[in-house]
Parts: sequence; structure tokens; C-alpha cells
Amino acid sequence: MLAKFDDMLKQLVAEPSISSTTADIDRSNLRVIEHLANWLQDLGFATEVMVLPNRPDKANLIATLGANGKPHPGGLVLAGHTDTVPVDSSLWQSDPFQLRDSDQRFYGLGSCDMKGFFPVALHAAAAFGERDLAAPLTIVATSDEESSMAGSRYLLESGKPKADYAIIGEPTAMQPIYAHKGVSMISVQVQGAAGHSSDPSLGHNALETMHPVMGALMQFRDELAQQHQHPSFAVNVPTLNLGCLRAGDNPNRICGHAELQIDLRLLPGMDSDAIHKQLEQRCHDAVAGSHTQLTVSTVYPPIPPFESAADGELTTTLAALSGKAPGTVAFGTEAHFLQTLGMQTVVWGPGSIDQAHQPNEYLEQSHIRPAIETLQQVIGRYCLA
Ligand SMILES: [Zn+2]
Repeated sequence: MLAKFDDMLKQLVAEPSISSTTADIDRSNLRVIEHLANWLQDLGFATEVMVLPNRPDKANLIATLGANGKPHPGGLVLAGHTDTVPVDSSLWQSDPFQLRDSDQRFYGLGSCDMKGFFPVALHAAAAFGERDLAAPLTIVATSDEESSMAGSRYLLESGKPKADYAIIGEPTAMQPIYAHKGVSMISVQVQGAAGHSSDPSLGHNALETMHPVMGALMQFRDELAQQHQHPSFAVNVPTLNLGCLRAGDNPNRICGHAELQIDLRLLPGMDSDAIHKQLEQRCHDAVAGSHTQLTVSTVYPPIPPFESAADGELTTTLAALSGKAPGTVAFGTEAHFLQTLGMQTVVWGPGSIDQAHQPNEYLEQSHIRPAIETLQQVIGRYCLA
């Protein structure tokens, strides 16, 4: 007997599974994986917990129903991530780790992004038994989507799961998403030498070096926008945001160190590696001859852009069932990795991205029943005989 939807979500939200590249904020996701594995075993799924290499506190889960849990052609993957972004509890009206049922919404950290997808997927799966299935139904839960994407990178490395189709249950308010931009967060650091401001020859000003770097980056952005457009996106060009500048300490000291962080969002079809190399070269060219040292690095490993056919079989099916036309988004997901594993991949799930990564995050309860029913139809279409 499967637990009630709200009991499941309550238990998942109660487990702090924050992922962050800042080690003292980062938490294990093993307890979330454990809950899911137990529930899925009760439903007859064969479960495999994949602990990440060199990270005994992080794991993915692959749970399969049908085909005796063995690799089998065809079938459907329902995938989600188990981690959440960090939280500032002081901005919340209630405890972010305690599910609150109010105003026809479930409030809690990860309620919409995206712990809520798992009880939806499990309640959909509960309508099917092993014997019903001609092709396997696989439920995948990953780690570290919000930081390094280490979980889905490890799936790709391991060459599993395999299926014909995959749905990633990120909160799209049940609109099928067939493409998204890539996301790179890049840090440009300039090391100069500090000294008394009264005599510029006593140091090398890192902030002054950053000035032409910023100019070069804005110039590069304009060139990229002229060369690349994609009509399916609301913002139809690649974007480059100068997001954060930290430099120096005092007006009367030569600025010894500066760091600029930028967010680069590339369109599908653009080669992230090549663009990163060009960007780095532009920065170096801009400061040639200065006596400062410039380094360019990524803050997180980049999320590659994703695109599948707008009229693909799964996209079209989800559009018809949800009554929502396929679209694109500007946020990153694990779609590239599942697609590269060979699955026709669509991002589709309950809840809205507007509430993701926000204080008082919630899942709209009116989405739950339609999401379960839609998934049951999709499972019926791709997994039944
Ligand atoms: Zn998410």
C-alpha cells in the first residue's frame, strides 16, 4: 500500500539534501534516496543505488519495473533530482523543512523543484504491475543537479539508464519543454599588486585591468548575439551577464585583486567548449602588456544546451495530454545527459519555475492530480503491450 502523496512529500522535504559547491552547506542526499528506494521496492521495482565515485555521501537511484529489472529495449524513464538549492530560513514564513499545507499549496524547500515530482511519479506508477508491462518503466533520482550535476554526469559515464523516452519532471507547469539554453558560470580573476594610492608606480591596479576585460566581454556578447539567434526562445540570442564584481579594499590603496563573475547562456547548437576558449582569449588579449595576472575558470561545470525536435513523439504526446503547446526555457536541466544516453527527452512536470529557488517555495496542489493522470497515460502509451 503506497503512502499518501502528502506523507511522502512531507518525508522528502524533511530531509535536508542541499547541494552546493560550498562544502559546509553541502548535504548528503542518501536519506532521500533511501525513502524513494523503499517506496519503489514496495511497488515491485528493482532498485539500484549508485554511490558516486569518491563521494560516499551522494548517490543516484535507478529503479526499474518490468523486464525483471534487466536492460531491455524500449520503455520510459521518469527522472528527477533529489537535491535542493541552499536556503535562508529567515526569509521563510515557516520552517522550510516542514511541509505546510495551506492555500491549496504545499509549502517547503524542494516542494516544486523538485521533490514533489517523485510522489507524482510513484502514484502514477502504482497503477501498473510488473505483468502489465511490455517495456520497462524506470524511475531515476539523481544527486547534485543544483550544483555540479555530478549525479547525471555519472549516469552518462555509466551508460545507464537506457530507454526510448525520458521525462525530466522539473517544474514547467506541465508545459512540455523541448529545448533550453546552456548555462555557464565563469570567474575572471585579476591578480595585481597593492600599494599606496599616492604613487601608482608602487603597484599594479587589478581593477584598472578589469576595465578593458569588461569592455571585451560586452563586445564579445554583442558579436555572439549578431552571429547566433534562435527564434524559439523568448530571449532569442545568447546572453552574457556581468553579475558580480569584487575588488580591492580601500580608496587609498592600489587595488591588488579583482574577481568578476559572469553568467553565460548559450543557445542549442553552440559549442560551449569553443566559446569558452574564445572568451578566455578575448580576456587575455584585452589585458596584454599589463603587469597583472589574469585567470579564467568556471564556477560550476557548464550545463550544456539542450534541444530535441519540437514535433517529437513524446513532446507531441505530452502537449496533447496537458493541453499546452511545446516551448523552450532559459534555465538548465539534466536533459543533455539523458538525451546523450539515447533517449528522446522532454522536460515536463508539475509546479512552476517561478516558485523554484525562492523563499516560501510551494507546489500548487491543483497540479498534482492532472500530473499523475498524464503520467499514467504516458506510461500506458510507452510501456504497455
Ligand atoms: Zn530543479
